Amino acid sequence: MQEKPLDTNFHWHGFTQMAHYDPLVIREANGVWLTTTDGRRLLDGVASLWCNVHGHAKTEINDAIREQLDRVSHVTTLGMSCDTTERLARELARITPGDLSHVFFSSDGSSAVEAALKMAFQYWQQSGHHYVEKTKYLALNLAYHGDTTGAVSLGGIEYFHRLFSPILFDPIRGPLPCTYRLPEGVCLPKSCDHYASQIEGLLIRHHHELAAVVMEPLVQGAAGMITHPSGFLRRVRELCDRYQVLLICDEVATGFGRTGTMFACESEDVTPDILCLGKGLTGGYLPMAATVARPHVYEAFLAPVEASRQFFHGHTFAGNPLAAAAALASLELFQSEQTLHGVVPKSDYLRQRLSVLEENPFVGSIRGRGLMIGIEIVQDRQSKITLDSELLVGRRICEQAISQGVWIRPLGDVVVLMPPLSISEAELDMLADAVIASVENVTGNLKV
Ligand SMILES: *Cc1c(COP(=O)(O)O)cnc(C)c1O
Repeated sequence: MQEKPLDTNFHWHGFTQMAHYDPLVIREANGVWLTTTDGRRLLDGVASLWCNVHGHAKTEINDAIREQLDRVSHVTTLGMSCDTTERLARELARITPGDLSHVFFSSDGSSAVEAALKMAFQYWQQSGHHYVEKTKYLALNLAYHGDTTGAVSLGGIEYFHRLFSPILFDPIRGPLPCTYRLPEGVCLPKSCDHYASQIEGLLIRHHHELAAVVMEPLVQGAAGMITHPSGFLRRVRELCDRYQVLLICDEVATGFGRTGTMFACESEDVTPDILCLGKGLTGGYLPMAATVARPHVYEAFLAPVEASRQFFHGHTFAGNPLAAAAALASLELFQSEQTLHGVVPKSDYLRQRLSVLEENPFVGSIRGRGLMIGIEIVQDRQSKITLDSELLVGRRICEQAISQGVWIRPLGDVVVLMPPLSISEAELDMLADAVIASVENVTGNLKV
């Protein structure tokens, strides 16, 4: 019997059908380019799953990790810390919106969300007997907050989440604040009011039992780059204040410049009570996430030791010094390379290049914010009816793009483009060329 390649035998990949997995093994990477073990070069069109910011093998980040490596690789954050991690916490407190200032570290985005959920719950439990019933969460339709059980409970994507329903808790389910498919009788200018009033209706009914509203601000990434009406986040903030419910913003995907500002919340001048960060935090180099709280949340946990009010949560590798060193180096690069200034011009350029696809009858929408773009392929652009999922159109487009030297990964029939923020104009051209050709090619073979 012939032995299969090592990778497929031993490595079980997430969200990957292993029976049909065609191994793609990367040996090294530089800038936006990945090199496979068999010598192919691929443009990293989704930033190694939405996390790479300044490109691969960036000298400043590599050097920072090496320098830290020679001092200390890991110490716990339970009752102690490392100076590098302390510096990062102070820096995150400085750059996050408003008075967000208390940083709780973990190792991935799902854990940052889990910590936020438990933090919000424990906060209310410790805020007086009027509030002990606040034990539920409001999550949006098609929400995605990670793959651990609490995060999946909030999740609203049937395809990923339904299977697990017997082991999940039920959130209060809000609307999908979508600007592409609007509810019957609602026009775009009125959509913000419409969705906000749906949220208000739920808060009127449930505020007494709600610990928090949890949402991805501006763009729901995994839902298919669903973009919210502008002003919606601001309205949710006001409603949470009015009905005494905490606001948790999950910026695991949108954080660190993706949408054009450092954090998506800034574009609506919103400070959530709790902010979840991950993905781009270390420039996409090492696993690290953070749950950042405002003083009123933090202070509910302060008490004499014997009162047992400390946050009952903590991860072994939280605040890892190597990851913290990478994160600090990444934040310095945002300064020295003025990374944020490039995001909107690059986004505009890519969108303008992609606009030829608007002629294609199968392209329903090209949407997103900053360098977080989705191209939705539909059966019919007028009715916005989706294609039969068995046609695997999104997947086939991405396979074609890979054969043309661009690595992208779809969400159903939404082709996702999320390159490192450092991508150059010439590289944006290569990305656009491969995507346009692949979309035209695959949709050209569909029967109308
Ligand atoms: C990716 C993502 C997560 C989960 O992060 P992991 O690091 O994969 O656990 C949570 N929320 C959002 C919005 C994400 O995009």
